[in-house]
Amino acid sequence: MIEDKNPQYTDLEKLGEFGLIEHLTRQFDIKQKSTIKGIGDDAAILDFKSKQIVVTTDLLIENIHFDLSYAPLKHLGYKAVIVNLSDVYAMNAYATQITVSIAVSNRFPLEALEDLYAGVATAAKIYNVDVVGGDTTSSTTGLIISVTAIGEANKEDLVLRSGAKPNDLVVVSGDIGGAYMGLQVMEREKEVFKVNPQNQPDLEPYTYIIERQLKPEARKDIIELLKDLQVKPTSMIDISDGLSSEIIHICKQSDVGVELYENKIPLDPQVISTCEEFNIDSTTIALNGGEDYELLMTISQEDYPKIKANPNLTVIGYITEKNRGMHLITRGEQAVPIIAKGWNAIKNEA
Ligand code: ADP
Ligand code: MG
Repeated sequence: MIEDKNPQYTDLEKLGEFGLIEHLTRQFDIKQKSTIKGIGDDAAILDFKSKQIVVTTDLLIENIHFDLSYAPLKHLGYKAVIVNLSDVYAMNAYATQITVSIAVSNRFPLEALEDLYAGVATAAKIYNVDVVGGDTTSSTTGLIISVTAIGEANKEDLVLRSGAKPNDLVVVSGDIGGAYMGLQVMEREKEVFKVNPQNQPDLEPYTYIIERQLKPEARKDIIELLKDLQVKPTSMIDISDGLSSEIIHICKQSDVGVELYENKIPLDPQVISTCEEFNIDSTTIALNGGEDYELLMTISQEDYPKIKANPNLTVIGYITEKNRGMHLITRGEQAVPIIAKGWNAIKNEA
């Protein structure tokens, strides 16, 4: 970590709380029609007319959710926003505003927070959301970031986890497992670095999966695509904890069962090669790895022709009656029960 004794860096104490807030937030302008008042008063004022509002929050804690020895602060700020926007899109809603709250220790100079906020600002710009508030406080040790995202949708467009029906198709966007394998590579390099700091790792073969871990994107493009294709999913969830636990959420809340096909799960070639290198089964990673922020949804069979040719969407199975249970059909055509491990669990096992 950056030393705050270094003269190049500015102590947070120099600015004081209000100076710091002013410094970090002056870059934010207002673009959304629904934002009446952003940063600067006791509360933001929003006006959504006749829309329905979705609200979601995530809390990220240093050394639990991120490790600053390999996650650059700029990427961290970006990711803290993305993980929240992903939850908004998973409702088939559009994100409009965020608030950003931070707790920092004096170990962090101003320049570190500038980097963090550069990442926040970049995400806000790309996804067209206004930063309308937050809170700033001190912490005795690490860094804590909490982002709240607000979004809007027409009532009839909202998609819940609870709407899946037997015979619906299970569809996933993009590919999965990359973020988890990216983390494995970076943790390995961190260990190598501890032993031999001179060693310059060649990360070229892992660029895609490392980016999936450090700088994920939220699939706003997918909800726009679905709108264009005139497909309204019957249920939807974002993949933050792994395919298994997300499909279980859908099945439990929809009161249905599922059959997923191992050979249909979309994997990037870099995930496959890295799994081979680490001697881990790529299906286990796809099922239990996390943080891919893809969308998992169910669609009615009638909508299949509309999505069939789309490279961003892959059908990986179908919904059954509840009494059929939840199974993965392996390449060897065996039905294996789907259980939620969550990515922390596989991490502890490894
Ligand atoms: P209060 O004392 O009412 O909590 P603050 O002085 O903390 O007010 O905040 C002043 C303004 O700056 C408010 O609009 C608040 O939402 C915003 N704000 C404070 N901290 C942050 C932050 N870390 N990021 C973005 N906005 C912030
Ligand atoms: Mg405050």
